[in-house]
Amino acid sequence: MSELRISGLRKSFDGHRVLHDIDLAVERGTLLALLGPSGSGKTTLLRVLCGFERADAGTIEIDGKRVAGDSLHLPAERRRIGYVPQEGALFPHLSVADNIVFGLPRGQRRARHRVEELLKLVGLPADYARRAPQQLSGGQQQRVALARALAPSPSLVLLDEPFSSLDAALRTETREAVAKALAATGATAVLVTHDQAEALSLGHEVAVLWNGKLIQTASPQRLYRRPATRELATFVGDAVLLPGIAGHGTATCALGTLKLLAPVPDGRVDVMLRPEQIRILAEDEASSRDSVSFEALVTELRFNGPDARVTLQTRGASPALIRSSVPGHRAPRIGELCRLTVDGEVLAYGAGSS
Ligand code: ADP
Ligand code: MG
Repeated sequence: MSELRISGLRKSFDGHRVLHDIDLAVERGTLLALLGPSGSGKTTLLRVLCGFERADAGTIEIDGKRVAGDSLHLPAERRRIGYVPQEGALFPHLSVADNIVFGLPRGQRRARHRVEELLKLVGLPADYARRAPQQLSGGQQQRVALARALAPSPSLVLLDEPFSSLDAALRTETREAVAKALAATGATAVLVTHDQAEALSLGHEVAVLWNGKLIQTASPQRLYRRPATRELATFVGDAVLLPGIAGHGTATCALGTLKLLAPVPDGRVDVMLRPEQIRILAEDEASSRDSVSFEALVTELRFNGPDARVTLQTRGASPALIRSSVPGHRAPRIGELCRLTVDGEVLAYGAGSS
């Protein structure tokens, strides 16, 4: 059974449609990453779910119970949702402990052992309870905000870009702590992000919101391998797009005739590959291999340490610029002539598709 079920949800501000007929189901105990560029409507969707905004149409059910739809609009405090807002989550004049118990009914606010338990859950020492929020790092403050959201044991936890204000090192650590805490409570959660790597690595499922429309909901693997549109292919990772001709379950492009992952009508297509699918063959491999390989010239190189991003120009009748991702210790030199091969099946978008 789904913990959260949204159907036909719409929301406009001043005649401008921000959410278009959103349908979404999130299974119990799973973490859904809601991914979308800035301005796509992510915060609005969370605020409508919480009850801070009223939807123009559609229904919302939490734990099998309708909380919004038709003329019904349950107030936020009756929806059993834990919310971690994008910014300014903590009250600066309250201690960490008082922040955490803030959302609890009055009678339970003295339960200090609950504060300790929640601090432990988010990976913070118990003696942080007495501190003021300003005495914590940004990442620690986010963990306290999560502890506060989890305190009343909500059915659903919503987190709005919880890591976006943190620097890279703190972000990884905080991300892990938050994922662990959510898993430990078995909470059903929706985590909003504009960062595709974060969505792919944290979400059990990823839903992509684009101009107020949910354009694809899929497992991280499927979303990355089989994005629904060209734009999405580029948004959820680096994509190499090459013109080609499809026929009989294959597509022919500057990298030869490649097997397709999913069927597409015969005719002109754009072939989509991920840069890590384009392998640069070592010298001995290039001579001993019987599978098809191609010559290409290295025109640019970005060395990142563990890996390198290589730009190459294929040779032949219709030269194409492509990008390959290779292990750092295999990085070629600019001007080097390499042999390439394509690893795995590829995707193609037909002329009629977006
Ligand atoms: P995101 O969180 O994905 O960046 P938002 O949900 O904050 O996107 O905003 C989506 C669109 O809705 C934006 O164009 C924004 O200007 C508009 N919007 C959001 N809240 C309001 C509001 N209260 N009044 C008018 N427009 C709003
Ligand atoms: Mg937002």
